[in-house]
Amino acid sequence: MKITEVEAICLNLPEKKDIADSSQDAVIVKVHTDEGIVGIGEIDSHPPIVKAILEAPMSHRDSHGVAELLVGEDPFDRERLWQKVYKKITHYGRRGVGIQVMGGIDIALWDIVGKACNRPIHKLLGGCFRNKLPAYASALFPGDPREIVKMIVGFVGKGFQGVKFGWGAFGREAGKDIELVKAARQAVGEEIKLLVDAGEQWDASTAIERARKLEEYNPFFLEDPLSPDDIDGYAKLTRATALRIAAGEAETTRFPYRDLIERGNVDVIQPDVTRVGGISEAQKIAWMACDRGVMFVPHAWSTDILVAATLHVLAANPQESLLEFCVSDSPLKRDLLLEPFGIDKDGFVKVPEKPGLGIELNEEIIEKFSKQ
Ligand code: MG
Repeated sequence: MKITEVEAICLNLPEKKDIADSSQDAVIVKVHTDEGIVGIGEIDSHPPIVKAILEAPMSHRDSHGVAELLVGEDPFDRERLWQKVYKKITHYGRRGVGIQVMGGIDIALWDIVGKACNRPIHKLLGGCFRNKLPAYASALFPGDPREIVKMIVGFVGKGFQGVKFGWGAFGREAGKDIELVKAARQAVGEEIKLLVDAGEQWDASTAIERARKLEEYNPFFLEDPLSPDDIDGYAKLTRATALRIAAGEAETTRFPYRDLIERGNVDVIQPDVTRVGGISEAQKIAWMACDRGVMFVPHAWSTDILVAATLHVLAANPQESLLEFCVSDSPLKRDLLLEPFGIDKDGFVKVPEKPGLGIELNEEIIEKFSKQ
């Protein structure tokens, strides 16, 4: 089998807001083959930059556009192709968008191989430890405690066993932060997990002061309190608080996770499968976390293509985990698949069983939002 074309399709909502919500646009990758199988992937990054990196011509030996490196290659050679791209984009892209582009393609290659073998991806990753994942509802932090209570009533009514609020109104002022988290804890009760995402806003001293105040409300973890580059800050924070500290949604490749775990001493790592380098890289990180007793709870705030890829990685990992379930009402999140993911009455999402990713795109939605 040979790759004949790598296609990137940018989708956009008609209007975008300058808020921390990456479900306002998307890049879908389709990898076409000479045997008629088409693999689907997604890249949660900046769509026009993704397209440029994919379609760029060669500049010199270590600076290629990505698509030309893959046409004519065998999609079963996933690891070799990942390394080929990594080396050929090394001077501009071995971190950041270059790797994110390869991540989306890697997902599509796994989809091709699964479809060709007539097996779901988790079977090819080593087998299924669990056929469903507990999901937590993930939402932006509203500034009004009454709005928090209203949202939680809705989430719990749908069956969610965990709720995360992040970014939005949180992180600017201690008194307000405590008021919001207190309201959330009172509304969820003690049985349901409450997670808090601080949105990379604090320095280490602020994070330590805030984490100690939040301990009373027992969040399951405190996510991204610091800049992704403040590894020494993470080391100080994790020594100073009893809370689990989570980080890592902004990283690309497996390499920064060694630092986050070994120097930063974080309790939970959160690679995003589309950003980190795809299913191949995410699985390596999942095993790294498993071997070191660190939780692996991937970031997933984009379309259901990302959700499918994340479910396969989580199904094939021995550790228990949680699925981030973005509650955005963007049609790119809600309607991109013919059968969108949903939670059952106990708050679980089923791991797909059909070949490859096990999903089918709604081409009408792609048609509609690729023209925006
Ligand atoms: Mg986050």
